[in-house]
Amino acid sequence: MTTLLGLKCHLCGASYPAEALWVCRECLGPLETVYDYARVREQLTRAVVESRPRNLWRYRELLPIAGEPRTGFHSGFTPLVRARRLAARLGVEELYIKDDSVNHPTLSYKDRVVSVAATRAVELGFDVFGCASTGNLANSVSAHAARLGLECFVFIPHDLELGKILGSAVFNPHVVGVRGTYDDVNRLCTQIADRLGWGFANINLRSYYAEGAKTMGFEIAEQLGWRFPRHIVSPVAGGTLLPRIARGLRELKEVGLVDGDLPRIHAAQAAGCAPVVRALDDGVEFPEPVKPSTIAKSIAIGNPADGFQVVRTVRSSGGTGVASSDDEILDAIQLLAETEGIFTEPAGGATLAGAMSLIRRGVIAPEDSVVVCITGNGYKTAAETVGTRLEKPTVIGRSLDEFEGYLRTTGLAEGVASVARS
Ligand SMILES: *Cc1c(COP(=O)(O)O)cnc(C)c1O
Ligand SMILES: [Zn+2]
Repeated sequence: MTTLLGLKCHLCGASYPAEALWVCRECLGPLETVYDYARVREQLTRAVVESRPRNLWRYRELLPIAGEPRTGFHSGFTPLVRARRLAARLGVEELYIKDDSVNHPTLSYKDRVVSVAATRAVELGFDVFGCASTGNLANSVSAHAARLGLECFVFIPHDLELGKILGSAVFNPHVVGVRGTYDDVNRLCTQIADRLGWGFANINLRSYYAEGAKTMGFEIAEQLGWRFPRHIVSPVAGGTLLPRIARGLRELKEVGLVDGDLPRIHAAQAAGCAPVVRALDDGVEFPEPVKPSTIAKSIAIGNPADGFQVVRTVRSSGGTGVASSDDEILDAIQLLAETEGIFTEPAGGATLAGAMSLIRRGVIAPEDSVVVCITGNGYKTAAETVGTRLEKPTVIGRSLDEFEGYLRTTGLAEGVASVARS
């Protein structure tokens, strides 16, 4: 029995049926899904959640589908990693990485939102599924469309990293590179959705798409043993993820699954594209659009669709905004890899760099628990990021002599030799 009641305007409260609508006809506000929480409370106990497969659908009563899930059976429920070595380096006691760099099947948080949007696209009868993307969303839409046998069009800025472009093309969708910024791509896609009636994950299916992001919040609480951390640091691009993590946590309280104080949620952006952080710093409600210039292309959205929701959520949670330079982002990518064995892309670097600033500023105290949301995988952008910094491998001849010669240059020769003798 579905728990989805319909859609409601986030601003004026007007009600709509659960169709492919995303803006309010009265006030142009964003539309959000409405659930029958009393019914969810009856159906969704901790035991029920824990008995289900380890994917994002274990919270299906709080997701906006009418029938059965169609895709995403291995998406979500990514590791929550207790990061002890990194914590020691940063001087905090309880640090966790929510690791969506290994989300299935396309290695970013987007597999959550697309699982829901694609299922809804099928339910609503769309034949063509697409998106406007900074790369990861296009990868995910392409993969899920392939599994579902849907015709697929993905639109991206023409100058994305090669790994992101190939990571869509391999699934054989129509990949359209647009000469312009993400914001230009998004504007074009809004016109196409309107003219051709196609289903765009993050445009006319956005009300459903956004709900998939709540599962990151659900999982953080469940994986901490059904409790909330003191702080969460989330990246912000279009502004889908951060407010939905908060919404997910509020819903867990609402339906009686978790008690306690909600966390402070902090917004991390790259200094080269930080409209939300600037709005938070300046005390304004609606972020002023900016022109992006950063290596963090996956979060380079100058005019975030849900920017005001991010600002409101961060403020009301007692959080702050934090922006990091491209160098700080690269340093954070390397630090996470060297201390925890997790390789993230610049979005993750920006988020960890942001968390590090907040710790230095004392916003996050040493004894506070903190979850850092790592949303994308470093292998896709390796050449364009750490590729410019790391040393090439040492090349030697095939003899043991050559290797021993090399070993002496590392300064490890003595120690290693004594291990071999003992
Ligand atoms: C899309 C994306 C985000 C966040 O985007 P929102 O639009 O704010 O939800 C963060 N990190 C990565 C790697 C992404 O691809
Ligand atoms: Zn409205």
